[in-house]
Amino acid sequence: MSAASVPLRRVLVVGAVMLLSPLGCASTGVARTDSEQPTSRDVSAPRPKWGLVIHGGAGVISRENLSPEREAEVRAALTRSLQAGHAVLAGGGSALDAVSAAVRILEDSPYFNAGKGAVFTHDGVNELDAAIMDGTTRKAGAVAGLRHVKNPISLARLVMEQSPHVMMVGEGAEAFAKSQGVELVDPKYFFTEDRWQGLQRALEKERSRQPSSSLPSGYDPVSGDHKFGTVGAVALDQAGALAAATSTGGMTNKRYGRVGDSPIIGAGTYADARCAVSATGHGEFFIRYTVARDICARVEYQNVPLPEAADVVINDVLVKVGGEGGVIAMDREGNVAMPFNSAGMYRGYVGEDGQPSVAIFRDALGGPP
Ligand code: ASP
Repeated sequence: MSAASVPLRRVLVVGAVMLLSPLGCASTGVARTDSEQPTSRDVSAPRPKWGLVIHGGAGVISRENLSPEREAEVRAALTRSLQAGHAVLAGGGSALDAVSAAVRILEDSPYFNAGKGAVFTHDGVNELDAAIMDGTTRKAGAVAGLRHVKNPISLARLVMEQSPHVMMVGEGAEAFAKSQGVELVDPKYFFTEDRWQGLQRALEKERSRQPSSSLPSGYDPVSGDHKFGTVGAVALDQAGALAAATSTGGMTNKRYGRVGDSPIIGAGTYADARCAVSATGHGEFFIRYTVARDICARVEYQNVPLPEAADVVINDVLVKVGGEGGVIAMDREGNVAMPFNSAGMYRGYVGEDGQPSVAIFRDALGGPP
């Protein structure tokens, strides 16, 4: 199916994709062509609708496997993250600062697979990856394989701003962290019982060598888990600048220095002057299909509205090859998309009015639980 042939009805009906109009911001759902875009911020040009979108991971998140207590905690953490990002944007701060602030809060929560709540590798340790990108300058910073850095997103930002490089991994990245005075923690900090049990279940499945056909739908034989849980944020600030940030523990039971899509610029994280994307899902697919850049390239080269471009990549391109997950995305007019092809995705949006909206399942954002 071509991007142009995706019916708008589908874009609107699937709770996974959201245009701004349901949130009180004007949008017809049809993006302007590039020639219609204001080239400078003159007084007659329409002001972009600034705002922030976050995710806390996609996967098999159903009402049956999420207790009401846990759901309330998750919603509260997502709301705090939105509020932190909104405070930055409302004060005239940059999209970069907003996505950093929003992601740090989710990294500090045990409920998401990033920072404190990171999943375990096959060897029973936590290895963290993160990336951040500034859409205006296309500068980017990425880190992978960290074992002691409390907030990987902050280190990714330092790589971008305080080094001549884009990506640093493992011991080198941690040496750089020390030189920058970044907060380091004992690896025990990352231990959570839930994630440890997730690894034990994955190891048990592996030992019993279930044929993939006998695994429940949505079950990932690599991760051995039912959800991904990476965190991310994209933002458009009052000056019209976009930024994207993503942070993750990767996938449960991952092997030998495996790095997923989150810190790979163009795969799990990407921002340019038109479009910003942060992804969550089975990283190997997101790398091979350069998901984040593919969405923004469709916006740039085909003049496809962002929600349509994101929907095609997640619900057509990836579905056809079995790549599970989702993205959050924003364009420079403040249009928002949050498509996912899994059962649920922790996600949220806050715009100029400062009213945070959070959703988990396939219901409309901010709709009934
Ligand atoms: N995309 C991440 C990875 O493959 C996992 C996730 O989204 O939770 O490392």
